[in-house]
Amino acid sequence: MARIVTKFGGTSLATPQRIREVAARLLAYQNEGNQVVAVVSAMGKSTDELLKLAHDVNENPPARELDQLLATGEQVSMSILAMALDARGAHAVSMTGRQAGIVTTTVHNKAKISEINAERINKELEAGGIVIVAGFQGVTREGDITTLGRGGSDTTAVALAAGIDADICEIYSDVDGIYTADPRVVPRARKLDAISYEEMLELAAAGSGVLTMRAVEFARNYGVVIHSRSTFNNKPGTLVKEASEMEQAIVSGIAYDNSEAKVTLRDVPDDVGIAAEVFGTIADANINIDMIVQNISENGTTDISFTAPMGELPRLQPVLEAAVVKFGARKFVVDESVAKVSIVGAGMKSNPGIAAKMFRVLADNGVNIGMISTSAIRVSVVIDGDKTETALQTLHTAFGLDSEEVFEETQLSGEELAAKKAKGR
Ligand code: ASP
Ligand code: MG
Repeated sequence: MARIVTKFGGTSLATPQRIREVAARLLAYQNEGNQVVAVVSAMGKSTDELLKLAHDVNENPPARELDQLLATGEQVSMSILAMALDARGAHAVSMTGRQAGIVTTTVHNKAKISEINAERINKELEAGGIVIVAGFQGVTREGDITTLGRGGSDTTAVALAAGIDADICEIYSDVDGIYTADPRVVPRARKLDAISYEEMLELAAAGSGVLTMRAVEFARNYGVVIHSRSTFNNKPGTLVKEASEMEQAIVSGIAYDNSEAKVTLRDVPDDVGIAAEVFGTIADANINIDMIVQNISENGTTDISFTAPMGELPRLQPVLEAAVVKFGARKFVVDESVAKVSIVGAGMKSNPGIAAKMFRVLADNGVNIGMISTSAIRVSVVIDGDKTETALQTLHTAFGLDSEEVFEETQLSGEELAAKKAKGR
């Protein structure tokens, strides 16, 4: 007998039919003799709809009230799923975050799980129940409902798996697992059997959207093995686990992110402390930036470039306007047409020349590099966004990642495909 925590995303629960299918899967797990917990997201796009509703009545809804509202999305799916299980003769108990004993910090809209009191869940499992837990939500010590930030149900699932000492945390979504690259852009992408926490974290930070970063961090910290797999088939997906248990590829995956813009401050006086001041001001505005490049100057001024999330530009612009005046820079420019492409692999640590090879491949394919940054197991470059596909495909081939088979998106509906295309470039 195993203890299994499963998590189902919004797409897996979008319609009554899909909910019935999830119920059948859970029941099959139980019939095989396992103890089963299911963490659920809100049905389909309902979190987005609730957010829109909030903004229709208040441009800036109070964070506490937003949590009260958003938490209802997951409560719809938990109770409906429990009902679908009951209809199949199973004993199922749904629980809100509070009922499941999930205690969080008090930061509304991005609370962190601080404690899990699992007695109630354990009791129901021992009594033969299938436990359904509303993801993404918890409760403060004062009794206020909180949410964990978008995509937070992954974190709920991993935290619960740690809290009840589950054997595995299965995260079901509309993709088959973790691929060497986004198969919609690189049709020869390969599904990985396993990937280390470290590599998964770098890939997630570099733009791979399959698993929420915080969930992976949690899994690493508590040694929870994640199995990322598809709701639409029974194929094994990808295991995310400790590196020591697997072979280390030089490059495991390639990710891209086109949600960031490149910002350049032109002709900043080249004085001691300017960078500290500029980035101090940006940090004070609580804006997270990435990749910083400063040019060497000959005439006493320098250009400073960095990347920032496109969504932060409205807040960043006034900060930069003030910085131009304060530091006597000439101007600032924003380039929204860039993309960041990253290669990630634990084997890089012991294999020199990987960055050089990446740059060579890009050069041979006419892709100009605007910025570069590295970590021990990642090399990232900023390029012209129009070259994203070329860069990803040629790097994928050059680092030996190509699969024999060509990916086909048969398991996605037309609507989902259109939505995904619209999101990508
Ligand atoms: N329903 C929430 C969201 O859409 C949480 C989740 O899906 O994980 O962000
Ligand atoms: Mg989700």
